[in-house]
Amino acid sequence: MDNYRFKTGKDILNLCQKYNLSIGSLAIKREAQSSNISEKEVYEQMVNSYQVMKDSAKRGVKTSKDSMGRLIGHNGKKMFEYSKSSNILTSSFVSKAIAYSLAITEENARMGKIVACPTAGACGVMPSILVALAEEKNINQDEIINGLFAGSAIGLIIATFASVSGAEGGCQAEVGSASAMAAAALVEIMGGTPSQSLNAAAIAIKNMLGLVCDPVAGLVEVPCSKRNAGGVGNAIVAAEMALAGITSFIPFDEVVIAMGKVGKAIPATLRETAEGGLAVTNTAKEYIKNRHK
Ligand code: SF4
Repeated sequence: MDNYRFKTGKDILNLCQKYNLSIGSLAIKREAQSSNISEKEVYEQMVNSYQVMKDSAKRGVKTSKDSMGRLIGHNGKKMFEYSKSSNILTSSFVSKAIAYSLAITEENARMGKIVACPTAGACGVMPSILVALAEEKNINQDEIINGLFAGSAIGLIIATFASVSGAEGGCQAEVGSASAMAAAALVEIMGGTPSQSLNAAAIAIKNMLGLVCDPVAGLVEVPCSKRNAGGVGNAIVAAEMALAGITSFIPFDEVVIAMGKVGKAIPATLRETAEGGLAVTNTAKEYIKNRHK
């Protein structure tokens, strides 16, 4: 029987070559094999998740309702309106992806339904990019779903050899991982090779290596929401470089190992405990003092 299981980026490249598959198609086969369900069922589960992603983006840009901690809630809609203006610095795709990123993370902070991707804290990176890409570049659903599976393969490797938890590895593990997943997905969707997808993921992680987790009052609001938007920009930059043929000097698997080591070296005060970084600034302390008044 064919074996589609992979552990490393190197395995992915070998299997894609052996079976002439994209990373997304390989990830579907792997999941079907591991979960003992049909590829159709695996695919349909992702279609359902993609629908939740789209719904959360659409809901988020329509409302200015406060988040639970009242620190965010207005920026997704604001950015969405701005993204339609002739003033934007980038493109309709990029500015819309930023708007969706803020909107989805605000939805998360309102306890709305989102897709953790890989975590709830980083829910505004891959979904935002792919929903905006589908709309602005007329990409069909099959290609987007394939991209989501490509991103999932990257997330799986990071979760195995490093971490996708802010409490364990800092924000590099959450927004950094999400950014790497999105970068690989973008390359896959835009017709890049598996090797280019891995290069994009490696570049995206390297650019966020060491990023600390320092949420104000322990709420996934500040700096999380805007940091997700930063992860969107980073993913697009990494994907563009990889699609241009630029490679990562340090290969993907080695970058992931380094990421795991860096995560362990980040002090506990900067791993979701809200005891360091932005969480202990004067403004954060003032907010905590007054938040229940
Ligand atoms: S700062 Fe911490 S809580 Fe916020 S998104 Fe990053 S890892 Fe998650």
